[in-house]
Amino acid sequence: MSPKTAPKTARLFMTDRYAVFGNPIAHSKSPRIHALFARQAAQDMAYEAILTPLDGFGRAVRDFAAAGGRGANVTVPFKEEACRLATELTPRARAAGAVNTLGFDGGAIRGDNTDGAGLVRDMLANLGVTIAGRRILIVGAGGAARGVVLPLLEQNPTAIFIANRTAEKAVRLAATFGVAGGGFEVLAENAFDIVINATSVGLTATPLPLPAGVFAPGALAYEMVYGRETPFMTQARLAGCSLEKVADGLGMLVEQAAAAFFFWRGVWPDTGPVLAELRAELPAEMQTGMQQT
Ligand code: NAP
Repeated sequence: MSPKTAPKTARLFMTDRYAVFGNPIAHSKSPRIHALFARQAAQDMAYEAILTPLDGFGRAVRDFAAAGGRGANVTVPFKEEACRLATELTPRARAAGAVNTLGFDGGAIRGDNTDGAGLVRDMLANLGVTIAGRRILIVGAGGAARGVVLPLLEQNPTAIFIANRTAEKAVRLAATFGVAGGGFEVLAENAFDIVINATSVGLTATPLPLPAGVFAPGALAYEMVYGRETPFMTQARLAGCSLEKVADGLGMLVEQAAAAFFFWRGVWPDTGPVLAELRAELPAEMQTGMQQT
């Protein structure tokens, strides 16, 4: 083969490129998760983390697509900007007003939001929890909360209540989806079967002002932050939630990645072994009970 023809032939076998854009990004487990999925599903793809300047998201994504990138994940703080950048949105991305998954097809930028699907799948498939007919409390009214309301509603819970430190945000978000919302003070008289912490407070040592009574007997306490025992998880245990009914967000992380992988490649990876591998790398106290899934 002459050197002239080599590049053309090589292009046929070029590895498909993906990336996650965020700031900060060093902590991201997405490159690891997608490398494990790709190996398992025999997909010829590479996935990298790109630290994106706060004022340079659109350009960074367009440059990546122009250089042959096939798709991307988007994390804090760019999910809403990604929603505006997309030329096509899935219904769940439109409902969320935020995008965590982009696909590049010719000139089109397809946007999806797989966070809610990841949470629902973790609850149903990994944790064995029923959502239909349950009373759900979502604590928080930021991007993560916004992304999970529609996928949860699609599972036919009895009710969803959104509580937030800034009550007006909860009221506004709740109104968008036709559910109820307000400040924490409303929670005093109410108990829920599923309590989801969708605030970022789990990254700190600050407890949420939740009355112990919000956890109904047998309730699931779900923390979106992963890899550490957060004050919310401790609160849930002290309120009587058993060890196996307190979950962190590692399963959601892996399941939202699987939904993104499907969006790009049309293949569902087997998430169980990947979740088990990541879980095994966590501190011993995060490997017990429900968190083993
Ligand atoms: P965000 O848009 O910045 O929203 C933050 C939320 O936390 C707001 O509701 C905010 O309330 C609340 N909050 C912050 N500090 C608080 C405090 N001291 N007390 C009470 N509430 C407080 O963030 P996000 O994108 O929604 O993300 C939320 C969390 O979910 C992050 O920790 C993220 O890592 C996690 N997450 C996990 C996954 C996963 O796959 N496991 C996926 C997505 C997100 P105000 O409105 O009053 O400020």
